[in-house]
Amino acid sequence: MTISALPEILTGADDLSPWPASTTLLPHGGLAVGGVSLTEIAERFDTPAYVLDEGEVRGRCRTYREAFPDAEVLYAAKAFLSRAMVRWMQEEGLGLDVCSAGELELAVTAGFPPERIVLHGNAKSPRDIATALRLGVGRIVIDSPSEIARIAAAVGPHGHQSVMVRVVPGVSAGGHDKIRTDTDDQKFGLSLADGGARHAIAKILSQPQLELTGLHCHIGSQITEVKPYLTALRRMVGLMAHIRDAHGTALPELDMGGGHGIAYRPGEPALDLTLLARQLRTELIESCAAAGLTVPRLVIEPGRAIAGPAGVALYRVLTVKHTGERVFVAVDGGMSDNPRPALYGARYAPRLLGRHSTAECRTATVVGRHCEAGDILAADVDLPGDIHPGDLLAVPVAGAYQLSMASGYNMVGRPPVIAVHEGAARVLVRRETLDDFRSRDIGR
Ligand SMILES: *Cc1c(COP(=O)(O)O)cnc(C)c1O
Repeated sequence: MTISALPEILTGADDLSPWPASTTLLPHGGLAVGGVSLTEIAERFDTPAYVLDEGEVRGRCRTYREAFPDAEVLYAAKAFLSRAMVRWMQEEGLGLDVCSAGELELAVTAGFPPERIVLHGNAKSPRDIATALRLGVGRIVIDSPSEIARIAAAVGPHGHQSVMVRVVPGVSAGGHDKIRTDTDDQKFGLSLADGGARHAIAKILSQPQLELTGLHCHIGSQITEVKPYLTALRRMVGLMAHIRDAHGTALPELDMGGGHGIAYRPGEPALDLTLLARQLRTELIESCAAAGLTVPRLVIEPGRAIAGPAGVALYRVLTVKHTGERVFVAVDGGMSDNPRPALYGARYAPRLLGRHSTAECRTATVVGRHCEAGDILAADVDLPGDIHPGDLLAVPVAGAYQLSMASGYNMVGRPPVIAVHEGAARVLVRRETLDDFRSRDIGR
């Protein structure tokens, strides 16, 4: 397939800033990502479909490695995981963050070295812990006091397991209440304020088979400012100094979690990674010097910022309905492939694909096909007034927390994931079919 881009029509109206860097405009309202026409993908693989730009994912991994050369970068698999993704992370030198036996097993069976995997979770099941120990996971992050004895017992008196502790330093940050994880009134971690973290740490240090390698925190998600990270880091270093004073133990690692914010629509802010890296490093060195601590190795865990901007969702318009003042554009996907608008009020900027329209733009609401009034994909967006059934819509920044949160609602089936790279497209995950639903349904 050959593609000729048309840079001369890249005007202000065509702000492709949240799209993958490889995106180019094609004639007749087309777009190419990774050198492949999205219209052709829709025709070849049908819709809805998710497109993942391999070059964009790899480029983002490299940006992290370059910005944080001394840190360990772990990709948070819950944003989106597939075997190809596992391989790309390994090839780009990242570690992995998982939060279930399922994610862990998928990664390890795809060839990822278990010692570079960290297991999280506020409520790890016996199977999660058994799988982690069987596969030899690098570190387990302890999230509650009861877990300490359970993990120690599972490891056995002669075993050994490296662990970290999830601390809640009490910094409120993030894009939405449901993704704020660092206040004392949510379910994650052990509080710095009420002494819960100190108590748990003392208990871990008394278990000879558990080796506490460091502290962990994850203050929220979709954070676009550096400041909350610096505040959290100072508090974490304070706790490290306390541990040194109380127990004589200098912890070698400090994991500051993920949560790095990205732009979903043109003009939205994103977290500046270079600034974050520089200021975290300075703050870490200064607060460790002030506390007389050896500087621990920094660990970070981005998920959204690696996968999100690399994904594009493709839908076909099924109906257009004018109701009073409103225009509803209904497409062939919806909350079963993207629950984020319903969960967090997330906003997107969909775009007409594969047809050049001269019609004036109108405000429309893009809705899904599910039997739920809250099944909205993009509220109040500008789309050409002549949008009609059969048109294609493309939604950028669709790579994180969409398919990984997808459901089987209405038995519509989850869309496929198509990787694009250097002009070629290939299926990473096939479309879910009725046969998949039928094969699980074994009762009578
Ligand atoms: C979800 C999560 C991350 C990744 O968050 P992003 O917002 O995707 O960067 C990192 N660490 C932990 C512990 C998490 O729960």
